Amino acid sequence: MAFVITEDCVACGTCADECEADAIGEGEDIYVIDEGKCTECGTCIEVCPTEAIVEK
Ligand code: SF4
Ligand code: SF4
Repeated sequence: MAFVITEDCVACGTCADECEADAIGEGEDIYVIDEGKCTECGTCIEVCPTEAIVEK
């Protein structure tokens, strides 16, 4: 399992602020999750206002 940010991301930055593992960074257009750092805690899914983060 892994978490990915889809094109529904509006680059608000909320998920990056809330991620305790510091696994989310700003990509070219949308934010991206570093799978190597992500602990799959699920916090980012809960805080994203556009439901742009999904399990793949
Ligand atoms: S699932 Fe948790 S560790 Fe992984 S990117 Fe989201 S907030 Fe960060
Ligand atoms: S919280 Fe959602 S909309 Fe905001 S930067 Fe993260 S993925 Fe994008």
